[in-house]
Amino acid sequence: MITCTIAGSDSGGGAGIQADLKTFQELRVFGTSVITALTAQNTEGVHGIFPTTADFVQAQLKAVLQDFDVKAIKTGMLFSAEIIEAIVTLLKNTDIPLIVDPVMIAKGGASLLEQQATTALKEKLLPLATVCTPNIPEAEILTGYKIQTEKDIASAAHDLLSLGLKCVVIKGGHLNSKHATDTVFIRGVQPFKMKTERVDTKHTHGTGCTFSAAITAEMAKGRSIEAAIIEAKKYVQLAIRHPLNIGHGFGPTNHFA
Ligand code: PLP
Repeated sequence: MITCTIAGSDSGGGAGIQADLKTFQELRVFGTSVITALTAQNTEGVHGIFPTTADFVQAQLKAVLQDFDVKAIKTGMLFSAEIIEAIVTLLKNTDIPLIVDPVMIAKGGASLLEQQATTALKEKLLPLATVCTPNIPEAEILTGYKIQTEKDIASAAHDLLSLGLKCVVIKGGHLNSKHATDTVFIRGVQPFKMKTERVDTKHTHGTGCTFSAAITAEMAKGRSIEAAIIEAKKYVQLAIRHPLNIGHGFGPTNHFA
């Protein structure tokens, strides 16, 4: 099975393209990649960003789609409205399942999406997506809601589903509670929660990338959206529970787990 990630490179190997390809490999699918930006990065933070031109992002995606029978695509760090538009031009002519991780700000605070690109992400890319996996701050920016209660989570998900998505997973890792609870909204299915004990660790760099890459891998294998999300959660949980303890800062999730 062939997958594709459209995302940024993390020189530290914990997030972005590197996390996606490691996840694809572990989950036994072949990963292709379209690189939207290079980041000079380690476990202590993002030290620089060098974006790819929109034309060259398009050239990479065209090359991949022309040759490979790609079964599922994910997007991560997209950086600019121009890059989003370049991708949309190609993706709107395909019916390949698209998983959008609406990456905006790294845990260390670096901006991975220009502010003016949020509108393009919401209005142009999300209507093409099958699944979107925002964390709470991302869901707040995409919907304009302040999310504090279960009801806010449901309202935000409802707004995002109305863009044409089949599924929205609102990740609860940023909520201040004993459990990390993700809420899954699938069109036509009763919403459900995935609740896990919060793991006390600072080594969670790249968890969002890994989660959406795992959904992509499982969907490429033909699993239903629901089954893919449940498998992806298990994969991320294992990776968080067995930290590698490398680097001096916020270390990567562990794909050997
Ligand atoms: N760098 C790149 C290239 C990413 O795509 C991401 C997240 O999607 C990050 C960094 C941020 O990772 P985290 O917020 O998990 O530290």
